[in-house]
Amino acid sequence: MTELIGEEQLYYRKGFGLKQEVAGDLAHAYHSDLVERIVAAGHRLDVEGMTIRLAQEFGNCYGVDRAVQYAYETRQRFPDRRLFLTGELIHNPHVNKEMLANGIGFLTGSYAEDVSYEDLTEEDVVLLPAFGAPTDVMRKLRDIGCVLVDTTCGSVLLVWKTVERFAQDGYTAIIHGKYYHEETQATASRALEYADGAYLVVRDLEEAGLVTDFVRHGGDATALRERFVNATSPGFDFEVDLERVGIANQTTMLMRETEAVAEMFRSAMIDSYGEADLDDHYRALDTICSATQERQDAVEELLLTPPQLMIVLGGYNSSNTNNLTEICQAVVPTYHIDDSSCIEGPNSIRHKPVDQDEETRTEEWLPPGPIEIGMTAGASTPNNKVGETIERLLACRGQTMPVS
Ligand code: SF4
Repeated sequence: MTELIGEEQLYYRKGFGLKQEVAGDLAHAYHSDLVERIVAAGHRLDVEGMTIRLAQEFGNCYGVDRAVQYAYETRQRFPDRRLFLTGELIHNPHVNKEMLANGIGFLTGSYAEDVSYEDLTEEDVVLLPAFGAPTDVMRKLRDIGCVLVDTTCGSVLLVWKTVERFAQDGYTAIIHGKYYHEETQATASRALEYADGAYLVVRDLEEAGLVTDFVRHGGDATALRERFVNATSPGFDFEVDLERVGIANQTTMLMRETEAVAEMFRSAMIDSYGEADLDDHYRALDTICSATQERQDAVEELLLTPPQLMIVLGGYNSSNTNNLTEICQAVVPTYHIDDSSCIEGPNSIRHKPVDQDEETRTEEWLPPGPIEIGMTAGASTPNNKVGETIERLLACRGQTMPVS
């Protein structure tokens, strides 16, 4: 969509055709020769005493590559304008710091400084992140009249369409996701674009169980209202809004968990309304993105021949990275790190356990003797960070990357 006011185009979502112009900066900030060599060698590196196996799919996805490229193109296209992100471009600390280094400010979140939405003018340029932005934020920015560069991933847009269709047809969107995640907030807001639109976000099987028990047996909804106060649309009525539901999800959830959530709702609807009328009460569309799925499949394949331990690299607030960690730790000791510097040496590593919010430190994490380490990286992790991590692992055994 293009909006023209006077001579100025105010909305861009296909970049600026400056791919070649920014290629050098992108390579400088994110490329890794070392990773390319390991990939070319079959995703495997053998040095004395250490084997590293990289998952077949890892690191930056197409949506992240596109968002980062558009951010650099935007900087080139508007060198003299103030440029802001509504929040983190993607959940990766290195990439967000690179944004700051390129003079791109943040309007919200931990990287924000002293400029907020109220300070924006029509002279400013605002980037919308790969997760998208809620409809109220979009309206606010359009009212200001600043230039918008929308990097929302196409896979996220597909989820929005699904949720909008549910709302249009009178189905409450049940979103399997984290209610506080930017993508889920943006997705949920789409349900409210229609008169009777409603949504409920369920985090996991336990929450899905609470809701489906209510679908089957009814009862007092007070406890549910309290539990889901931040995860439901305004005025959500558990007695009425659960009669017709459509299942969607945050694109980066665990596929098998989304399938289980969908099945719980499907069977609750059959129990309540009968199989013959299921279509009037239940819909489901698979909205896991292919990049997330491929990374989950690849790490499961790697674990078929389990290494002694796994390193999972990616932002601590990255949903898909946390899910990769969950898959790995069910099989072998797993360390989710957000930067190579977390590997402090063979005797100490900082990492975030999947069930905790804070980083912790583990001593004696690297067993002595020959070792095989598996590695993957979340969909918002650039290759240079993967390469740095591999170098750190090698250094733990006094090794460096062999000359090819
Ligand atoms: S993880 Fe999927 S939805 Fe998110 S940016 Fe990447 S490709 Fe798009």
